[in-house]
Order: sequence, then structure tokens, then C-alpha cells
Amino acid sequence: MGAGLTFEHTTLGQRVLFGAGKAAEHLTGEIKRLGARKVMVIASARERPEAEKITAGVNVTVRYDDVAPHVPLHKADTARKVAIRNGIDLLVSVGGGSATGLAKAIALTTGLPILAVPTTYAGSEATNVWGLTEASRKTTGVDDRVLPVTVIYDAELTLSLPRDLSIASGLNALAHCIDSMWAPRTDPINQALATEGIRALNNGLPIIGMNLNDLTGREQVLYGAYLSAVAFASAGSGMHHKICHVLGGRWNLPHAQTHAVVLPYVLAFNAPAAAGAVHRIAAAFGTENALEGLNTLHDTLGAPRALKDLGLAKENITEAVRLILPGIPASNPRPVTEENLTALLTAAQAGILPG
Ligand code: NAD
Repeated sequence: MGAGLTFEHTTLGQRVLFGAGKAAEHLTGEIKRLGARKVMVIASARERPEAEKITAGVNVTVRYDDVAPHVPLHKADTARKVAIRNGIDLLVSVGGGSATGLAKAIALTTGLPILAVPTTYAGSEATNVWGLTEASRKTTGVDDRVLPVTVIYDAELTLSLPRDLSIASGLNALAHCIDSMWAPRTDPINQALATEGIRALNNGLPIIGMNLNDLTGREQVLYGAYLSAVAFASAGSGMHHKICHVLGGRWNLPHAQTHAVVLPYVLAFNAPAAAGAVHRIAAAFGTENALEGLNTLHDTLGAPRALKDLGLAKENITEAVRLILPGIPASNPRPVTEENLTALLTAAQAGILPG
């Protein structure tokens, strides 16, 4: 008889370069190391100044800025054609999950390598998950071709993130950590990463909440966001992500804010059936109770609390339940039914707080 510690774990192969103010230097070094000659820089108009600054020393073949939330398929197809037409051999994404997502969509069909420079805490850069949206329906899949070969983290690039987005995006990262505790491939390794991720995010987010320009807080949150994404990539999508992906794809709700709102409702829902997970989450928050730790952080940050404020109407709940239910993983600690999911979404829509 073994001691009961039996698991299967896959670690994704990726280089990570972390350092405030070092993105330009790291980028030049990586492009040289990879031997790339035809670089396509993907950055939305909003992130173009940051992208231009850090690629000033790079010979760029194409600068591409048609980046849209949730990667619409027709935009991915156009970008793929641009990459092929120009003989691109390296994709450099500078931006949030939408810019990374467009680079992934190109890599999915072309096999081109990606060098990702994230400017939010979404974490897409550390996963092999892609997402595409067509006719209001988001499809996601797993393919190692979309995993960026290198990620360059530079906390200075996140200083321009406004307060509401900094907080929502940081809570999006926290959602990766918490959902990893009961996702289909949860294991002791990704739980350990998620626990450290919660600690770093819970430490850094209130610092940012008080002072957006505090680089120490920004670094803590960026570090936590990376850990959260590694945990999420390994553990897979749990109940929380299945809910948010449907809401984002079908009603075009803002990604990070939707995660921020839904998280406490899912934690409250699963907590009674997930003793080990809530113990770890509470320890990471440094509180007696996991939900108390999360609610305290939400209150400290003044985080969004209701889906109605993000654009979900009460009338949408029946359809949302119908779309979400088939995607709930069998690993979820508490059985999910039409009734209890309706109750969860009704509370989250109205902002009636759990706990
Ligand atoms: P986003 O990339 O759309 O960025 C949100 C907004 O912030 C945009 O308007 C953007 O221009 C702006 N922005 C980005 N960086 C900024 C900065 N430094 N300063 C000021 N403004 C800035 O949103 P997101 O939340 O980063 O990512 C969400 C998307 O990523 C969703 O489509 C989601 O599904 C996807 N995602 C995918 C994975 C994955 O593993 N595939 C993981 C997480 C998120």
C-alpha cells in the first residue's frame, strides 16, 4: 500500500523572463536566440505605444492592431492570411488576453512560435488553451502549438492598467487559482502553485488598490498571475471557468469583470463539499474561512459584485443555465443541477452576496 499520494502531472515547457523595465532587452535577446527574421507584432491600438517602445530595437515586418475581445473567427482568419502573406516566422504579442489570443489563433493553424509580452493579469500566455468566437459562441481547445515559447513579464507595462481593470484582471487570476483546486486535472503540484498564487495576489492587489504606480504591488500581482495561469493550464477548466466562458461568449460580458463577480458565488457553492480546497484557500488568504478571505479582498478592492452591472439580464438566466450545465466537469465537488445553478446565477446577477 502506498501513502496515498498518487498523481499524474504535466509541466508545460516554456521560458519565462521576469523583470521590471527589462522587456526591451529580453525581447531583443529572445528574438536573436530564436533566430527569427520576420516578426509580426500583435498589439491593439491601445497597447501600441508600449509595443513600439519595447520593439524599438527590433526589425518588425508587420505591426498588426486589429485585436478584439474573445478572438472573433473572421478576425483570426484575416490575421492568419497576413502572417502567411508576409512570410512571418515569429509572432510577438504585446497586450492582454485578447492580443495573446489572436497570436494563439494564428499559431493554431500555422504552427508559428509566439513570444508573449502580457500587459494584464489574464494569464493566457502561460497556457496551451486557445479560444475563438463565432456567432456569439465561444469555442476553446487545447493544443501545444499555441503555448508561447517564451513569456516576458515586465511589471512596468502594467502600470497603465486603470484601477478597475487592474482589480478585475487580478481577480481573474485569483479565479484561476481557486478553480484549479477542483478542476478536472487538479493535483498536488498545481494546488501548490495555486496556493502561492493566492498568497501573492492577496498580498499585491490591495497595494495596487491604494497606489496604481506601486511597482512592488504590480510585480506581486504579475507573479501571482503567472502562477495562477500555470496552475490553470495544468488543472484545466473547473466550474467557475465554464460559467464565465458561456457568459462572455454568449452575452459579450467583459472577461475579467465577469470572473471577478462570479468567483465568490462559485466558492460559496463548492465550499461545503470541498474541505481540502477551502482549507488551502483559507491558509493562503491567512483567514479562518476561505470565503471570508475572498470577501474581505473584494471589499478592500471595491470589486464588482453583480452580473446585472456587466450587462446580464434576469431573462438571460434560463438560457445561461441550459448552455452552462453540459460543460460542468464531473470532477466538481458538488453536483450541479438546473435548480442550484439557477439559484447561483440568480444571486450573481442580482449581486446578492454569498457568505
Ligand atoms: P483584454 O486583452 O481584452 O484587455 C482588456 C482591456 O485592457 C483592453 O481594452 C486592452 O486594450 C486594455 N489593456 C491591456 N493592457 C493594458 C495596459 N497595460 N494598460 C492599459 N490598458 C490595457 O482582456 P484580458 O482580460 O487581458 O483578457 C481576456 C481575454 O483573454 C478573453 O478573451 C479570455 O477568454 C482570454 N483568456 C484566455 C486564456 C487562455 O488560457 N486561453 C486565459 C485567460 C484569458
